[in-house]
Amino acid sequence: MRVVLTGGAGFLGSHLADLLLSKGHEVVAVDSLITGSEQNIAHLRGNSKFEFVKHDCSLPFSVDGQVDFVAHFASAASPDDFKKIPFDVLRAGSYATDNCLELAVAKGAKFILASTSEVYGDPQFSPQPESYWGNVNPNGPRSVYDEAKRFAEATTMAYHRFKDVDSRIIRFFNTYGPRMRLDDGRVVPNFVNQALRNQPITIYGDGSQTRSFGYCADILDCVYRLMESDLHDPVNIGTEQERTILQFAEAVIKVTGSSSEIIHLDAAIDDPKQRRPDITRARNLLGWEPTTQLEEGLEKTVQYFRELM
Ligand code: UDP
Repeated sequence: MRVVLTGGAGFLGSHLADLLLSKGHEVVAVDSLITGSEQNIAHLRGNSKFEFVKHDCSLPFSVDGQVDFVAHFASAASPDDFKKIPFDVLRAGSYATDNCLELAVAKGAKFILASTSEVYGDPQFSPQPESYWGNVNPNGPRSVYDEAKRFAEATTMAYHRFKDVDSRIIRFFNTYGPRMRLDDGRVVPNFVNQALRNQPITIYGDGSQTRSFGYCADILDCVYRLMESDLHDPVNIGTEQERTILQFAEAVIKVTGSSSEIIHLDAAIDDPKQRRPDITRARNLLGWEPTTQLEEGLEKTVQYFRELM
């Protein structure tokens, strides 16, 4: 397959590029480099099956030649970015999704959307199955991401229903691993960097809010299975390794051997209190099971950040 991959220089996008190339596919990575980094794809320079195009896919674009799959992975995903670059976040979910789907129509290509557990907002029950419609504040500080991704899902299903696009939708839960941005502001890079520098670990609020952390290699294995499937309904991809943020801070301190203290700052507005995916659909229909334990994934992530520093 020849795959056009937006966000191909980002954290997950660059790992997906590696995976696709390892399976013998060709990749055209399209990235604005607003949050992506050429460093993430530096090792692919010179690979004849890999091309990089610097372009903001919220502006219309075309790609020469055959395209078999369009994978729309471009978007900032850190709540810090929702404040710093809100319009880029909105456009990545809206205009860019439309542009990617138009490309899929023009090329007769299949399509996959990277959506998010944020479509569930601050969920009223847990774990969250795909059938849950969510509890989203439509105009709060996270809305630029949440509503753009909900729009992206609606757009994808409209192209599927009315323009026959062979589409798939992933709902990623918290995913971590090497190549996350050091200054991205999310909990994994923040805590790991604070711990490695023996600086205070900053918990927003009392730390009782939960997240379920999935290691990137496991998560992308499921993405590839979904690409090969003909499932059009959204699929949660994440793990059941739910931890409170306080437990997560303690795990980071243990893995890094840090002497950092834990401090509490103001809670973030509209911060989801409990997040854990119901992964029955991925299990039953894709035969997928995540295998990496949190401590094991953290070791690899810590090593990456250690080398960066
Ligand atoms: N968080 C925190 N300290 C930080 C960064 C994040 O306590 O320095 C918390 C945040 O409030 C949230 C959780 O960690 O409850 C996960 O935040 P993240 O920014 O990684 O993404 P989210 O899952 O909220 O989209």
